[in-house]
Amino acid sequence: MFKEMRETRMSDLHYKYDEASGLKAIVAIHSTLRGPALGGCRIIPYACGDDALTDAIRLAQGMSYKAALAGLNLGGGKAVIMEPSGDYDRQALFQAFSQFVEDLNGRYITAMDSGTTVTDMDTIAQQTSHVSCTSRCGNPAPLTAEGVYYGIQASLKAHPDLPDSPEGLRIAVQGLGNVGYALCRLLYQAGAQLLVADIDDQRVNQCVQDFNATPVATNEIHAVPCELFSPCGLGGILNKDTIPQLQCAAVAGSANNQLLTEEDGAQLHQRNILYAPDYVINAGGLIFVAINHLGGNQEDMQHRIHGIYDTLLEIYDQQKTSGLPSSIIANQLAESALFGAQPQSLSTGDA
Ligand code: NAD
Repeated sequence: MFKEMRETRMSDLHYKYDEASGLKAIVAIHSTLRGPALGGCRIIPYACGDDALTDAIRLAQGMSYKAALAGLNLGGGKAVIMEPSGDYDRQALFQAFSQFVEDLNGRYITAMDSGTTVTDMDTIAQQTSHVSCTSRCGNPAPLTAEGVYYGIQASLKAHPDLPDSPEGLRIAVQGLGNVGYALCRLLYQAGAQLLVADIDDQRVNQCVQDFNATPVATNEIHAVPCELFSPCGLGGILNKDTIPQLQCAAVAGSANNQLLTEEDGAQLHQRNILYAPDYVINAGGLIFVAINHLGGNQEDMQHRIHGIYDTLLEIYDQQKTSGLPSSIIANQLAESALFGAQPQSLSTGDA
């Protein structure tokens, strides 16, 4: 455990077991150097505590990097709850979790993530103020989509063989949920030709109807010939099997953890496919949540979301001069913003 903490430069880990509700939870606080650690709470039926711990550490580090590159005065953290098997009292579970969050005294601010809902956040808010994404906060997805749209514009601008505008370009969108659908709308309005896929046929039909999109099979969308591939579904889509099949010039989408391994960032680079690091391009939702929670105005929010464009251009610029993959450059910039110094090593193991 301490080895993982050292490798990821993790600040602290907190465990909670509550017998009455059955709560088994971990809060990983990667860093509070820039401010309180904000990050979602997952509830998943983890096979074992070690899996939950690994998830919490990896995700908390990602949140630190995301907040740092979005220029927010926030650190990074994450909570994971091991979902009890069988029936359980969800409200009691989240009440116990909220006490856990309250006990951390504001070092960690929780939010929605895989498996948790606005209702869960409302339950938590009954006992602690260190929670966001409640029903008073609103849906971050449209702002995430807007940030991804700016990220796509930056990717087009930086790519030597692509025009600056999405007009007339073939853009393949994988996953048409809250973010994917909102992104399709922005791209359609900009004149892009959309190729779309989702495991939910209704969502595909909606995009065909609303945006004149062309449906593609879910197992083919990553491999369809296009100018830009935008993963907006699940993580791990960029891996040793899919990367050789890509027929696009750039990848820029909202999904978290798109690279299955750090090595996959290098593979994309080798194939000359421009990659927008996921935690940079999808920061719009975090910006929305942070500004809502910490206080700030619409103008500030828009300014920061538009800043995703500039941050990506800087990453692409450094990629050009250093010859390193964009995923590594992003990690270096994040570590520098977090710890105020250049990373000790350029190896992918530092990420
Ligand atoms: P969502 O659950 O609303 O949408 C995901 C969509 O992907 C669903 O329509 C689902 O049916 C589809 N999908 C799942 N598996 C698929 C597959 N194999 N092939 C094609 N489609 C598939 O989620 P969302 O809020 O739109 O988020 C999308 C991604 O962006 C996630 O990875 C999420 O972690 C990330 N993200 C979201 C936000 C946000 O503000 N919602 C912020 C940052 C990152």
